[in-house]
Amino acid sequence: MKMDIPADLIRFLQRSTRVAALTGAGVSQESGLRTFRDSQDGIWKQYRPEDLASPEAFARDPKLVWDWYAWRREAIKGVRPNPGHHALVEIEKKIPEFTLITQNVDGLHRMAGSAKILELHGNIQRVRCSECGTFTETWGDDTESVPCCESCGGILRPDVVWFGENLPRAELEAAIQAARNCDVFFSIGTSGAVQPAASLAFAAHNKGAVLVEINLDPTPLTPKADFFLHGKSGEILPELVRMVWGTDGGL
Ligand code: NAD
Ligand code: ZN
Repeated sequence: MKMDIPADLIRFLQRSTRVAALTGAGVSQESGLRTFRDSQDGIWKQYRPEDLASPEAFARDPKLVWDWYAWRREAIKGVRPNPGHHALVEIEKKIPEFTLITQNVDGLHRMAGSAKILELHGNIQRVRCSECGTFTETWGDDTESVPCCESCGGILRPDVVWFGENLPRAELEAAIQAARNCDVFFSIGTSGAVQPAASLAFAAHNKGAVLVEINLDPTPLTPKADFFLHGKSGEILPELVRMVWGTDGGL
């Protein structure tokens, strides 16, 4: 598919050595995963994600929350990275200092082969103890009650950041550093509604980075963007790689 990538942006990226990219649920949409604003499926339709992804929800009904994540892990089985994820792997190969920052918890960037990823909101494939924090490699999803930690007996929880919880400090600090020190900052498939991730683009912009947004719809960031590439990340990113580096890297 032919898409217009502005010539100025192509030239600029050819000269850039420091690039950061923040991705959101929109990047996984073409892999068949729903974005946050889409309605939920089946029995989960009656709940708002905010009412399932919070410490309060887990305290109220741990089994309900556990089952929701077990269902989401199941839904991710068989899901594959799309050309947008693969293009980001190519960009990582071309740019000397490239930082991929994601709000997604689905692990698809890792599966695509991106080496350096800052997972700001955790990963639903990982599970840890809600009491002592010990990670668990294997657990049963179909148990009567929420499985417990082998070290302390506390109940297990997904290693994700819930509403009202802090982001992992090391990841957030590294993301802020990357945003403040890049020539180009990409905001891709994210509505910019969830802080503090959304403020990274503004931090980059304030430090003089060129801001590039890729989205199906305008967002609060769009008025600040130097380039707004309107469309699907799975189509725009591979085209951008082709136009900037003249390679498709097998995409
Ligand atoms: P969001 O749902 O708020 O926004 C998604 C954005 O992507 C929207 O702006 C939409 O216009 C855009 N979009 C949809 N399809 C697109 C496509 N094909 N190409 C380009 N843009 C597209 O998601 P968010 O900003 O990531 O924030 C939601 C929160 O939900 C995050 O905290 C995240 O952790 C969590 N979440 C993660 C996943 C996942 O891991 N796959 C899925 C849902 C929600
Ligand atoms: Zn424990």
